[in-house]
Amino acid sequence: MAELVFFSGTMDCGKSTLALQMDHNHGARGRVGLIFTKMDRAGTNVLSSRLGLSTGALEVGDDLDFWEEIVGRATAGTRIDYLICDEAQFYTCDQVEQLARIVDEMDVDVFAFGITADFRTELFPGSKRLIELADRVQVLQVEALCWCGRRATTNARVLDGVMVVEGEQVVVGDTKPGTTGLVEYEVLCRRHYMRRMTSHAAKAAAISPEVLPFDLDVCPLPPLPITQAD
Ligand SMILES: [Zn+2]
Repeated sequence: MAELVFFSGTMDCGKSTLALQMDHNHGARGRVGLIFTKMDRAGTNVLSSRLGLSTGALEVGDDLDFWEEIVGRATAGTRIDYLICDEAQFYTCDQVEQLARIVDEMDVDVFAFGITADFRTELFPGSKRLIELADRVQVLQVEALCWCGRRATTNARVLDGVMVVEGEQVVVGDTKPGTTGLVEYEVLCRRHYMRRMTSHAAKAAAISPEVLPFDLDVCPLPPLPITQAD
């Protein structure tokens, strides 16, 4: 019986690499699939992984109706055993519901890959709907690590070098320096997310003589400057 599976994790946890591996494994068994993605870091119509592998993919626009798309292809005689859906956090709730319907009514496996929460630690609508509807939610085994070495569970947004917790939900990183500023992302453990302590901020704190003695693990937020006792 077909399944809707949501593979979730933070950024940098190897989701896209697993998506490519999954496609390879099923293809090697003679199964036929389609690969979808949305706003991949490498551009449109491509699914890329940080390890350097990539493959062609169908770009998911907001107006794409998965049900119509897959029914149309099947009606035209194309065999489809499974769908790989990367960057699924960016899909609309309607699209996630269409994917569930494809699983149930067409017996096509859907393997969705995505990050659960945005830079504010709030669920993306697409991920929320997937968690609600999936037969299985699988948290990826390869853990992304915070600069401190702990397991990273959050995705921080860094705007021009400074961590921000407000703004539009979707801003793809490493783009358009200039007018909107340089947007980057960094995975952090919860405690360093809560303290707005990115690797850059930690390094700055470590080399500043004012805060040298202060212990990262006991400092409140915002960090108070250490004053010398007389
Ligand atoms: Zn940390």
